[in-house]
Amino acid sequence: MSSDNTPAPKNFIRQIIEEDLASGKHTSIHTRFPPEPNGYLHIGHAKSIVLNFGIGEDYNGSTNLRFDDTNPAKEEEAFVEAIKEDVRWLGYHWSDLRFASDYFEQLYDYAVELIEAGKAYVCDLSADEVREYRGTLTEAGRESPYRNRSVAENLDLFARMRGGEFEDGTRTLRAKIDMASPNMNMRDPTLYRIRHGLVHHQTGDAWCIYPMYDFTHPISDAIEGITHSLCTLEFEDHRPLYDWVLDNISIACHPRQIEFARLNLEYTVMSKRKLTQLVSEGHVNGWDDPRMPTIAGLRRRGYTPESIRQFCNVIGVTRSDSTVEMGVLENAIRSDLDVHAPRRMAVLRPLKVVITNYPEDQVESLQGPNHPKNEAMGTRELLLTREIYIDREDFREEANKKYKRLVLGKEVRLRNAYVIRADEVIRDEVGEIREIHCSYDPETLGRNPEGRKVRGVIHWVSAGKGIPAQIRLYDRLFRVPTPGKDGDFLSDLNPESLSVLTDCVVEPSLARVEAGARFQFEREGYFCRDIEDADDGRPVFNQVVSLRDSWGG
Ligand code: ATP
Ligand code: MG
Repeated sequence: MSSDNTPAPKNFIRQIIEEDLASGKHTSIHTRFPPEPNGYLHIGHAKSIVLNFGIGEDYNGSTNLRFDDTNPAKEEEAFVEAIKEDVRWLGYHWSDLRFASDYFEQLYDYAVELIEAGKAYVCDLSADEVREYRGTLTEAGRESPYRNRSVAENLDLFARMRGGEFEDGTRTLRAKIDMASPNMNMRDPTLYRIRHGLVHHQTGDAWCIYPMYDFTHPISDAIEGITHSLCTLEFEDHRPLYDWVLDNISIACHPRQIEFARLNLEYTVMSKRKLTQLVSEGHVNGWDDPRMPTIAGLRRRGYTPESIRQFCNVIGVTRSDSTVEMGVLENAIRSDLDVHAPRRMAVLRPLKVVITNYPEDQVESLQGPNHPKNEAMGTRELLLTREIYIDREDFREEANKKYKRLVLGKEVRLRNAYVIRADEVIRDEVGEIREIHCSYDPETLGRNPEGRKVRGVIHWVSAGKGIPAQIRLYDRLFRVPTPGKDGDFLSDLNPESLSVLTDCVVEPSLARVEAGARFQFEREGYFCRDIEDADDGRPVFNQVVSLRDSWGG
């Protein structure tokens, strides 16, 4: 990505590619990202996207987006569209958009080739029987009684499978490899199965037999001229089958499969099955809930594409499985927003302050810098009035010297404004603090009072001019680093992962900001304007991340 500040770090896959270019084995590099459209993309997919598309860009090659859509029972057009949006949002451009289902006819022809060569057969064993015949890791399997059917009979049966003559589960097409192989994947794996009554989002009802992943994937890669087929480590044991398929059909291209470790993140889950369950059972508010590790969730939370790419570069690509701390992801967005997010003031838990010596109807226009370290970002207008809000946490009737906020009888500075002193606490009938009466020193705008030391600086918003808002604070979605380790992952959900603060007040300059706009609310953290307003019409701001790492220890 040209817009990133750091180049992608070298890794063992890039090393292989550079050697292949240097040796002349390849003159251009072609990769693909092959999601199954059965859910939304998550941060683990981002690792694969950054790897595949990053290589396509850096080696003057190309990268296809290919939907691995061979299981119509779980796949949907809506997921196809969401995945395309997420890849684009991450900043990548595919050369070709493909569907494995584009190749159904070719795949069928290659299956016929295997049958003609005596390397595949139609098997009548049921799924349970196939499992039983397969043997175990310590015991060789047994050959199917249908293994030695003639080529003619296999061709006939396979054509009739396609023709819809047989029920689901009654027949499969299997590769004829080696029932004694120490690699279970090589014990006559299934290549095709019968699935009636499904509507495929691309091919409709044209097919009632569907090819398996291990047959579809190598051929799709080869058809597209992929040079390096990058996948996660659990496919290492499938590589012999990937190679077997390509070695036994008449296709010239033979991509090299290379495996890398999947990304695991603490305090969340990444399997699409589990994410689907969180959504369908209402544990979260949809795929783009800001607590979700999906790309859509991270986007709504306020992550930038740059921060996600940066995160992927920081974690790197290796062959050893590991679990990354959530703090690493958060650091990526924090350091991005620290540089780019304009500063604003927002009061999350309002406490009214009346500045008793401030003129009743005065509205004073002050200026606050948008960024303390970047003058080029300019300033925004702040409106000071006699009544303002400060945060409840920023006032105490008594406190020791470590408390650098407003204390009864003591002074504090209002950020970008004057020094005030707390004179009196006004209580309601039940004794709760209702408001604080303060006085301000008009000589302290932009300069320190003479001969007195002010404890600290707090943020504030004009009571009359501020904008009511809803602010949503997020905590980890799960209470434990590895959800589901000791039982059902749902029982590890954090019941306090979302806190909704409904009575916040934000500074007037936030009256009209676009969905997705990100800010630092001074002393509070980074926040992002949500895509929807609250039910009561107030704008909603999502907490992206705290100001400092709160995960350690
Ligand atoms: P899940 O188990 O969540 O369903 P999957 O691997 O089945 O994941 P796919 O849609 O098939 O999901 O994945 C598309 C690509 O993304 C594959 O190449 C896969 O290896 C890669 N990928 C998926 N999850 C991760 C992860 N956690 N880390 C790195 N790459 C991943
Ligand atoms: Mg999959």
